[in-house]
Amino acid sequence: MPFEHPLDKYGRPARSASRGARAATLVVVLAALVPVCFAGWLGWQAVFGKGGGSRAAAAISQDGRPVPARPAPTRTPAAGAGAGTAASSAPAAVPRAAALPLAGKVVVIDPGHNPDNYQHPDQVNALVRVGNGSKACDTTGTETDAGYPEADFTLDVARRVRAVLQAEGAKVIFTQDGNLPWGPCVTQRAEIGNAAHADAAISIHGDGAGADDYGFHVILPAVVVAGGADTRPIVGPSRTLGLDLRSAFHSATGEPFATYINGGTGLDVRSDLGGLNLSTVPKVFIECGNMRNATDAGRMTSASWRQRAAQGIASGLSAFLLHQN
Ligand code: ZN
Repeated sequence: MPFEHPLDKYGRPARSASRGARAATLVVVLAALVPVCFAGWLGWQAVFGKGGGSRAAAAISQDGRPVPARPAPTRTPAAGAGAGTAASSAPAAVPRAAALPLAGKVVVIDPGHNPDNYQHPDQVNALVRVGNGSKACDTTGTETDAGYPEADFTLDVARRVRAVLQAEGAKVIFTQDGNLPWGPCVTQRAEIGNAAHADAAISIHGDGAGADDYGFHVILPAVVVAGGADTRPIVGPSRTLGLDLRSAFHSATGEPFATYINGGTGLDVRSDLGGLNLSTVPKVFIECGNMRNATDAGRMTSASWRQRAAQGIASGLSAFLLHQN
């Protein structure tokens, strides 16, 4: 409350009162305040008790019973210390499922070609069996008119995709990470996905079509049953993966569906790719753009566009992996 000066006999503030009178007045006022304050303290104690911890005791569960206060957190001992004592009372670690939606998922990413394939023509041109025929072990890939190689593009985008997927909890395996002198062969690129029992596999490419052609497309496996290849189990899920990928990539990059493939649908189905024919896990290829088209080349040589491309690819994979369950 605000302090008020006592009044003199004329009703004016007693500014001229003696020091002793003012002291006496102060004592009276303080004496009057003590019971008020004491009552206030009692009221505080009644509501909150002693210490902050008793606030939890006032909590009420949904069925009306008091909720016991949560015990103070137990400090986790260092690994190997105090085993069986304090450690046994520590709560078990709870997986952060919401934060890592792709935990437990395995994705194989195949960065198309290899920057050094051109230095190893004998190995790269050697024929391998791809079920319904023979193909070169690998190819050098295309490049932009200015000389930006497809193999550099695919590796860069693949690494960006990996970063996004790993942040979501996925296990990501590469078929090559710029760490091989050449290749690997397309047969091995398929086998790596199979051996990993990948939930999804993708081969990343840039196309080399006519200068007036532009846009991206996704390549799905055709039904191939020949020479040990059998794509029948993966044709359906690969198509689902391809549709998710086409949608997400288009949204992320604004890149149109390829003008020169399959009526502009953004989808193609092929039976001549060893990486698809030999896969036993859901797998697609993506041709992110036409490196021989000036507009697409401008995008594909831009790091910020490659990041958007990677976000789109990761989103497509993620969508497929999440509705797989
Ligand atoms: Zn390619």
